[in-house]
Amino acid sequence: MLDYIVVGLGLSGIAVSSHLEKHNKSFKVYEDFSQKSSLVAGGIYNPVILKRFTPAWNAAQQLETAISFYKGLENQLEAKLVYPINIYRKFNSAEEQNNWFDAADKPNLEDFLDTKLVKDLNPFITSEFSFGRVRKTGVIDTDVLIKEYGKKLEKSGRIEFERFRYADLQVGETELNYNGVKARNIIFCEGFGMLNNPYFNYLPLRGNKGEYLIIYSEELKLKEAIKSSFFILPLGNDLYKVGATYNNHDKDPEPTEEAREQLKKFLERTISCKYEIVDQVSGIRPATADRRPLVGRHPEFENMYACNGFGSRGVLIAPTMADELIEHIGNGKDLSGESDLKRFTRKHYKAIQ
Ligand SMILES: Cc1cc2nc3c(=O)[nH]c(=O)nc-3n(C[C@H](O)[C@H](O)[C@H](O)COP(=O)(O)OP(=O)(O)OC[C@H]3O[C@@H](n4cnc5c(N)ncnc54)[C@H](O)[C@@H]3O)c2cc1C
Repeated sequence: MLDYIVVGLGLSGIAVSSHLEKHNKSFKVYEDFSQKSSLVAGGIYNPVILKRFTPAWNAAQQLETAISFYKGLENQLEAKLVYPINIYRKFNSAEEQNNWFDAADKPNLEDFLDTKLVKDLNPFITSEFSFGRVRKTGVIDTDVLIKEYGKKLEKSGRIEFERFRYADLQVGETELNYNGVKARNIIFCEGFGMLNNPYFNYLPLRGNKGEYLIIYSEELKLKEAIKSSFFILPLGNDLYKVGATYNNHDKDPEPTEEAREQLKKFLERTISCKYEIVDQVSGIRPATADRRPLVGRHPEFENMYACNGFGSRGVLIAPTMADELIEHIGNGKDLSGESDLKRFTRKHYKAIQ
C-alpha cells in the first residue's frame, strides 16, 4: 500500500513529490506528456508584476521558499537549475518612469525596484526613457528540472510514463485502487489537463495559452532579461526566448501563426540587429478565474486532492503550495483561504453533477 498516487509531473507534481520525499512518504507518479506548460515556460522568477509595478501575490515569501527549494533540488539531482539574472523593464514614457519611482517607495516593493535607472543597456535595444532593474530575479531551467527529476523517479520505479485513466480509479473510504496499485491518497497535478478529471473539472480553471519564439542572434550579446511588452530572455549560445503571448480563447496546444506574427512585430520594433527565428513553442497556463491557486481536498472524497491553478507564476508558487498541501494532509495545518479550492463550493459541485 502506497501513501500517495500523484498525477502529473510539471512544476506542481515535482513540488508535491519532492515534499512527499521529505516526509518519507511512498508514492507513484503518472505522467503522459499531454501538457507542456512547465516544459516550455520561461522559468522566470520575478516578484513584481511589471505591467503595473505592483507586488505579485505573496511573492516575497514565495521567493525565499522557491529559491531554497530549487537549490535543494540542484544538489539532489546534481544539475544546474537556478540562474540568477537581472530583469530590466523598458520604459515607454516619462509617466512609466514616474510610476516606477512611486512604486519603489512602497514598503513591499522597495527591496525589488532599483531607483538607479540605466540608459545604455544594449546597443541594439534602446529606450528614450531608460530601463529600471528588478532585483532578486532569475530563471529556473524547468526543462532540465523535469527531465532530471523524471529520471530520478524512473530509477527508483516511482513513475509510470502513461496516461492516468480516471475511469480505472476505484475510490474507497480509506483506500484507492488504480489497476491494482493501492494508495491511501491521490494528488492531482495535471495543470490545464484537470479539465479532463471528472472529480475536479467543476473548478473554474481557465486555460491561458502562451507562446514563445526562439531567436538566434550573433550580434545581440544580451546578458540580461528585458521586459517590454514581452520578455527577451537570454538562453545562452546566442539564443533568446521572446514572449510569451497571452490568449484566453485558444485552447489548442499547438503554436499559431497569429502569435508568431504578434511576436515578429514586437521584434521588428524592439531589436535593431540581425536575428533569425529558429523555433516556436506553446503551452496552456493553468490560470484561474480569481488568479489564485486551486489547492486542497475534494468536497466529497477525503483522500483526494488537487494542487493546481498556478497561472503564469508556477515557478514561484508551486513550492509553497505543495508544502502547504502536504502539511495540511499530514499534520492538519490549515490551507490559506485564498488558495483553498473549497472557496468554490460543494453546492457548485452538486449542481453540475
Ligand atoms: C509560454 C509559457 C511561458 C511561461 N513562463 C513562465 C515563467 O517564466 N515563469 C513562471 O513562473 N511560470 C511561467 N509559465 C506558467 C507555468 O508554466 C505554469 O504556472 C506551471 O507550469 C504550471 O505547472 P503545473 O504542474 O500545474 O501544470 P503543467 O505544467 O501543465 O503540468 C501538468 C502535468 O500533468 C500531466 N498530465 C495531465 N493529465 C494527465 C493524465 N491524465 N495522466 C498523466 N499525466 C497527466 C501533463 O502531461 C503535465 O506534465 C509559463 C507558461 C507558458 C505556457
